[in-house]
Amino acid sequence: MGAEDNLQVLLQDPGLSADLKHIAQKVLNHERITFDEGVLLFEKGELGYLGVLANYIREERHGDKTYFNRNFHIEPTNLCVYDCKFCSYSRLLKQKEEGWEYTMDEMFDMVTKYDNEPVTEVHIVGGVLPQYDVPFYVELFKRIKAHRPELHVKALTPVEYHYIFKKAKIDYATGMKMMLDAGLESIPGGGAEIFHPEIREQISKDKCTADQWLAIHEEWHKLGARSNATMLYGHIEEYKHRIDHMERLRQLQDRTGGFQTFIPLKFRNKDNQMSDVPESTVVEDLRNYAVARIYLDNFDHIKAYWAMISRTTAQLSLNFGVDDIDGTLDDTTKIYSMAGAEEQNPGMSTKQLVELIKQVGRYPIERDTLYNVVTDYNDYQFADEPKPQYYKLPVIN
Ligand code: SF4
Repeated sequence: MGAEDNLQVLLQDPGLSADLKHIAQKVLNHERITFDEGVLLFEKGELGYLGVLANYIREERHGDKTYFNRNFHIEPTNLCVYDCKFCSYSRLLKQKEEGWEYTMDEMFDMVTKYDNEPVTEVHIVGGVLPQYDVPFYVELFKRIKAHRPELHVKALTPVEYHYIFKKAKIDYATGMKMMLDAGLESIPGGGAEIFHPEIREQISKDKCTADQWLAIHEEWHKLGARSNATMLYGHIEEYKHRIDHMERLRQLQDRTGGFQTFIPLKFRNKDNQMSDVPESTVVEDLRNYAVARIYLDNFDHIKAYWAMISRTTAQLSLNFGVDDIDGTLDDTTKIYSMAGAEEQNPGMSTKQLVELIKQVGRYPIERDTLYNVVTDYNDYQFADEPKPQYYKLPVIN
């Protein structure tokens, strides 16, 4: 049965409550669900129900296509002037012996290391320190683009931009234009955490506010450029805070259309100030992907970071609204492993990523940062490999 058949069967289920049936009918009719309906999905929607709705939307938009890219990360430093309670990555200045601070030349050398590799994107994000300021990043972006013009520079979050623009005494519009002119091409989704002040005040009160985060993305979108958005979930927030977060993103997206992808980030509790908070279950992770797919009707893509949630959960997520599982990484990020992710040295070859996607009956597509197709791997045969047989996972109902 196809995704629409599953949804039709669900609608005929006499055991389904009237309110959940109403939401399912709205999804079938392509009608937007309300804030209260979003909360209701979290409170009452069991895994199978949410999977049927989310997979219907996913397959209507993308069929079986599942995207990944070939990228590497540069993390300039893991020292940070801020003190987010959930952060396992930042080593405060007092723990400096555990920290690193790369110079401009060291970062440039990391780029040149990939000169003969078919990567399409460099993802630059890390802690916040005073020496990494506007002139530093302008020069870094210019050097990368001068050396390798086709390498897409995706860099820094509003947390960094707010800090460096304030220090340089320039407004967001001026600052983002300077970054664009220097070679920045898109901004990743980090730093969003949970927008609602009841939670943000408790977990990351000293960095940019929700309004500042959204304003920087809005200025960036006004320049005709694209960005992503994240949400750190599964800690002390309630369902209403998750929906509030998605609602703010949905409203900005209605105004600008500049977001490409929404990326739920699972809270991990290793070595941080919230280590007493239990982590969410895999079932809750899948429910969260599904609700995001249903609620964010104006976002094209929902992404799962395989390095953060494990390869198996990433495979399962493809039946719960996810159509992108990020990139090859090449062991160039420490953000997930330091927070306790199963992947301690994250990196997968293209072949491994393709196999991971095919094993659950989906259709692997290597994309560039802007979702242009680089290689269609559906019928691609890697050298010396017999063609394996795969079957599609059923959607649980
Ligand atoms: S989450 Fe980011 S801003 Fe917050 S302490 Fe960690 S590195 Fe710094």
